[in-house]
Amino acid sequence: MQLGSPIKYLPGVGPKKAEILEKELDVKTVSDLIHCFPYRYIDRSKFYKIREIETATAYIQIRGVITGFRQVGEGRAKRLVATFTDGDDFIEIIFFKGLNYILDAYLLDTEYIVFGKPNLFNGKFSFIHPEIEKPSPDRVTGFMPLYHTTEKMKNHFLNSKALQKLILTALKSIDRNTVPETLPKYILDKYHFPNASDSLVRAHFPQDMASLDKALARLKFEELFYIQLAILRQANQFKSKAMGHPFPVIGHYFNTFYKECLPFDLTNAQKRVLREIRNDVRGPGQMNRLLQGDVGSGKTIVALLSMLMAVDNDYQTCIVAPTEILATQHFESMSKMLQPLGLEVRLLTGSTKKKEREIIAEGLESGSLKILIGTHAVFEDKVQFAKLGLVIIDEQHRFGVEQRSKLWGKNIRPPHVMVMTATPIPRTLAMTLYGDLDVSVIDELPPGRKEIHTEHIFDEKRPALNNFLRKQMAEGRQVYVVYPLIKESEKADMKDLENGFEAMKQVFPEFKVCMVHGKMKPAEKEAQMQEFVSGRANMLVSTTVIEVGVNVPNATVMVIENAERFGLSQLHQLRGRVGRGGNQSYCLLITKYQISSDTRKRVEIMTQTTNGFEIAEADLRLRGPGDMEGTLQSGLPFTLRVADLSRDGQILTLARDEASEILKSDPMLSSADNALLLDQLHQKTQNVVNWSFIS
Ligand code: ADP
Ligand code: MG
Repeated sequence: MQLGSPIKYLPGVGPKKAEILEKELDVKTVSDLIHCFPYRYIDRSKFYKIREIETATAYIQIRGVITGFRQVGEGRAKRLVATFTDGDDFIEIIFFKGLNYILDAYLLDTEYIVFGKPNLFNGKFSFIHPEIEKPSPDRVTGFMPLYHTTEKMKNHFLNSKALQKLILTALKSIDRNTVPETLPKYILDKYHFPNASDSLVRAHFPQDMASLDKALARLKFEELFYIQLAILRQANQFKSKAMGHPFPVIGHYFNTFYKECLPFDLTNAQKRVLREIRNDVRGPGQMNRLLQGDVGSGKTIVALLSMLMAVDNDYQTCIVAPTEILATQHFESMSKMLQPLGLEVRLLTGSTKKKEREIIAEGLESGSLKILIGTHAVFEDKVQFAKLGLVIIDEQHRFGVEQRSKLWGKNIRPPHVMVMTATPIPRTLAMTLYGDLDVSVIDELPPGRKEIHTEHIFDEKRPALNNFLRKQMAEGRQVYVVYPLIKESEKADMKDLENGFEAMKQVFPEFKVCMVHGKMKPAEKEAQMQEFVSGRANMLVSTTVIEVGVNVPNATVMVIENAERFGLSQLHQLRGRVGRGGNQSYCLLITKYQISSDTRKRVEIMTQTTNGFEIAEADLRLRGPGDMEGTLQSGLPFTLRVADLSRDGQILTLARDEASEILKSDPMLSSADNALLLDQLHQKTQNVVNWSFIS
């Protein structure tokens, strides 16, 4: 068998299983298969005695014989109980399914190894459907690998164990010397890494912890190293090639606004970030900057001032927001702030009328319209700028990689780009995803903000909650009530929302309650939103359309219904809608009484901290990086098979430093020592379209 042999030729696979392996795991060749790594290992190096079992015992294995079977119960409660002994003590093994099969398959007084997690019931231990196998030389001892499988795979007898067997077969049938070394010798030597072939075998079938650790360290390093090398090399090339649009002057508009129109003093963090931006845009290079700042930290004003830098240098600029509501809000607040300067500002969204579109198109093409605010409608090919110098993307996590890359089509020379996000990205992720972006952080909130008081409230406590809301509204404050709405359960969710709206109207006849959701016509949505923004409505019942960016400083209460259905970063975003004025604000997370332990953890984190970075780290820990915001992984040039960004921060740092050092001395990777690196990079990135345009 060769590494490149189609997987269907591996003994035990065949055409049907090959098809499933390809569909589910993208495994086409023997080499692909042996690069599917375990996600966990179980210690099978030791046999337990029955009397050693304690409550806390995890998966264990016991060697012994079955001394008898008996059937218990009737109908659906029918089960089969086997008595198993290790020679000294007895334990019961319970089966609920496949009873006839089990009676056939297992013999009395024959040695078996039972493997599973003991179950404690009525003070007695038992096993429920454990794995049972005969001792055999092929059995995995030491650490047993567990592999990810899918429902579909399991239906075709491709469970973790079957995969493990296939991998064992594969590793035995190939010539180990043909496993190519994928890291240069100088790196192996420097970090004392095992070679590629040994690492592979050890990662699947480790004999002890120490050798497993070494093998995994190498494999993780390799994966992260090549990602870093790809990102950094691309960034280097881009920087050296890309001619920017220099904004050499700070002129009339910036200065006038700064001196006469600023509604407040900037925080030190805002000033520092502005200096960083200024340094980027004044020179010949192109700015690619990620601006992170917790919700409410005041990113908008920084964006506005940066846009004025562009205008002062006779460039056009646009800011793009993820929702129409948000774009409209930016438009309104920015038009107002810019009014004294006499600068024209226009809004382009999906619902902009044809007439207005024509005016905008004309202004953009002639260059007379300098400032455009919009949604992704701005990315449409029809929209052409005469001289676009700066693009600001607000609340970036809502934009896909693809949409962002479209910006490049707008100019031959790409404009300066600033991506603003309030979803703080943990350092490890930022380094991987945005390795080519410079990062600025607004790490200070405007003065006078009070900590938002967050509380977990059970459904049953509604009357008390309503009293509280009534009091707040009577004092002139405004209240958000947010319901989850997801595609899969859209109908039921809409009903929840509408029922909630009706209920609130009944409970609070003396107040005005309005409602917004994504299904509304833009004009109606806008009208309802306006009711709330203007202060005419006391309460806004809505879906997460208000999640990002909306700014109503007089709103002091955020009620989140069915909070168990929101992710941490979403909860944090929602909470960020209050606490924007001088009044004490509250975030009330409502759940039913029984919640899962994951929900409990999320709610606890929310009640314990308002720090966005802490929440992002917790989110990464709880969910794993693949899930963060659903799509973050898709921002990676290639998917991670071994490394875990939530745990492998140290290895990532090492990999990044190594990559950056290598590129410093050999930017083109043209030396003989680095030929292997270049070759690997080509192989790894050849199937990836456009991944490098992540800004
Ligand atoms: P975000 O970073 O979440 O986009 P915004 O830019 O919407 O935050 O700002 C939140 C609120 O804080 C706005 O009402 C804004 O006017 C106000 N704000 C911003 N910077 C300052 C400051 N330096 N001093 C006082 N208020 C500020
Ligand atoms: Mg904002």
